[in-house]
Order: sequence, then C-alpha cells, then structure tokens
Amino acid sequence: MNIRSYTFEEFVERVRAFHGFAAPGVVIGGFMVDLAYQHLPEEGQFNAICETPKCLPDAVQLLTTCTVGNGWLTVVNIGRYAMTLYEKSKGEGTRVSLDALKIEAWPEIKSWFFKLKPKGEQDYQRLMEEIRDAGSMICTIQRVRVAPRFLEKKRRTGFAICPRCKESYPIADGDLCLGCQGEEPYLVLEMRDDPAKSS
Ligand SMILES: [Zn+2]
Repeated sequence: MNIRSYTFEEFVERVRAFHGFAAPGVVIGGFMVDLAYQHLPEEGQFNAICETPKCLPDAVQLLTTCTVGNGWLTVVNIGRYAMTLYEKSKGEGTRVSLDALKIEAWPEIKSWFFKLKPKGEQDYQRLMEEIRDAGSMICTIQRVRVAPRFLEKKRRTGFAICPRCKESYPIADGDLCLGCQGEEPYLVLEMRDDPAKSS
C-alpha cells in the first residue's frame, strides 16, 4: 500500500526527517492525502485546507506543492481531523476525514486517536502496524466546494511604517500595526544592538 510515490516505510522515514519523529498522525495524514488525489482529476492545480494544525498540515506539505509559506495550504483550526484538496480557481475538490465509526475496527488507532491510554502505555509498534494495514480504510470522502473567501484573489494594498514600533505593516490593518493594536504575542524585554555593529 503506497502513499503517493512512497512505500509505507519510505514515507515513515520522510515523516521522521521532516516532523522530528514518525508521528502516527502524519503517517495517517499521508494516506488521507493519497486518497484525496485518487478522487481528483489528474490535471489541475490544487490548493489545500487542513481543519486542524496538528500533524495533518505536515502530511500535506510532504506530499503536495502546498505549503503554509506559499499560501496554497490554509489551516482552519476547527479541530476536525480532515483535509481538502480543491481545484484552485473553481474551488471544487475532495475532502477526506478520519471516520470515528471505521476506527472502531482498529483498537490501537482508536485508543491513540481518542487518547484513551496514557502515552506511555501505547503500543507504538502495534499502532504503526494498524495504520499500515488500515491505510485509507478508516477515512471518509466527500466532494466539496470550498467557501468563496478561499477563492478570492488576495489584494495587494501596500505597506506603511507603524508610528509606534517603526516596522512595516499592511496599510489595510489600520493606523497602527496589528502588533501595536494589542495582538503582539510577547513582551519585548530588551532591545539589542544591531549584531552587525557589535564586536
Ligand atoms: Zn507597530
């Protein structure tokens, strides 16, 4: 059972190198991406949506040209283990989700997915065997059309210098950058000199 152009073992190695360890969720995600492609036209440019930030985006980034950085992968955190690949101009595509009913037949996958056992008590070996044997049998497929906001061309509106932090930001965000409007994710503790100038 292959995952796109990889054997199962090859894909597990790719996950280990990219994700830091061979996370079960990324490996299952590989089967999900593979299944989505099987239900898409062979030709076309596809964008992706993941419904969770956990694991699944890495499967998409390993197996498609869609990344968070190039803008073709959008993560919408609604907490469901599901991803969609859709034709980028018309928005029609395939959504693949993990099916809670189908998981019933796979005890290790079930206990991993629903976190029924403490991590230390999980049988990783057995879990990976079940993932390999189940492949995409634990998934459900839907044909979908994505919401219009995903198809809108992003308008380029230009940048300004924020009067408070003196950094550039999109003019459309307002008189101050969003950081200075309160969304900064940290406190600045100390200003350091330009490293190029320091000895
Ligand atoms: Zn600012």
